[in-house]
Amino acid sequence: MFARTLFFWGMPLALTFTACTNNPKSVEPIETPKLLAEVKSNFSEDSAYSYLQKQVSFGYRIPGTPEHLNCANWLFSELQRHGTTAQIQKGSTTTFDGKKIPVYNVIGSINPEAKKRILFAAHWDTRPFADQDPNNQTQPIYGANDGASGVGVLLELARILKKQPADSSIGIDIIFFDAEDWGKSEVENSFCLGSQYWAKNLHKPNYTANFGVLLDMVGGKNAQFLWEGNSNEWGNFALSHIWTIAQELGHSNYFLTQTTGAIIDDHFYVHQGTNIPMIDIIDYNSQRGFPETWHTLNDNIENIDKNTLKAVGSTLENLVHTPPTSIHY
Ligand SMILES: [Zn+2]
Repeated sequence: MFARTLFFWGMPLALTFTACTNNPKSVEPIETPKLLAEVKSNFSEDSAYSYLQKQVSFGYRIPGTPEHLNCANWLFSELQRHGTTAQIQKGSTTTFDGKKIPVYNVIGSINPEAKKRILFAAHWDTRPFADQDPNNQTQPIYGANDGASGVGVLLELARILKKQPADSSIGIDIIFFDAEDWGKSEVENSFCLGSQYWAKNLHKPNYTANFGVLLDMVGGKNAQFLWEGNSNEWGNFALSHIWTIAQELGHSNYFLTQTTGAIIDDHFYVHQGTNIPMIDIIDYNSQRGFPETWHTLNDNIENIDKNTLKAVGSTLENLVHTPPTSIHY
């Protein structure tokens, strides 16, 4: 017999289980947020859904294709239209299978000069192969959930923040990372190429933020968001604060205060490169794994639930207006 570390490879990412995180357990929040600000939610799940739909309508957003470039330009123009200071960070990288691909990280900043900052991110590219599909493993995925959902929520957040701005002392950055999903589980650091590029080439010299929130697969039916292991390690205060907001808003069926295994996702490379405590809101738990549609052709528009988009979006909206005490104004 030999002992073997158990790895679950997946997602955008490789997940590592450790003994203490194998079995989810309840944890008590360590910080009770101040009472939520009287934010009347402007977040529209219909609008978030239409942003999601629009991305899917471009076709597969595979780096290096015309569909990918068209979508990048659209993301940029939407961020601009919503009044953010927008840019496309252009670079290039090489995939695990030796393809040289462009990287377009699309970035929008609100209150660019503010010292206190919150970083929001999601990946916008889609996986070139449905390797978890029972029948179509070489076909690309639509990425309605794995890609478009997080971006849809954040575009809607940008739209409503134009109408009801955050306090001017709080800066917000939205980054749509590219090339997250062209990876292979057996090859280290083969996922998250866009965030790895960004971490080595910050869009602004010495960029930092007080904390970050990554969204990944936030549009599925019956999604469940747990306290992912890496997020809990370096961003426990943010998890505690955000989950409390979600539960106060009545979204405790989505936001469960339970720990689960660690995942390598874009937040990992952001933290590694900048030390920003970034947490991951992701539909994952160690016992069930990722949603059934993950990396299959069923990751399509029919399997999106607007209620999930609403739960996540209204939580982030309230977060922006009532940030953790560490950056409270
Ligand atoms: Zn993926």
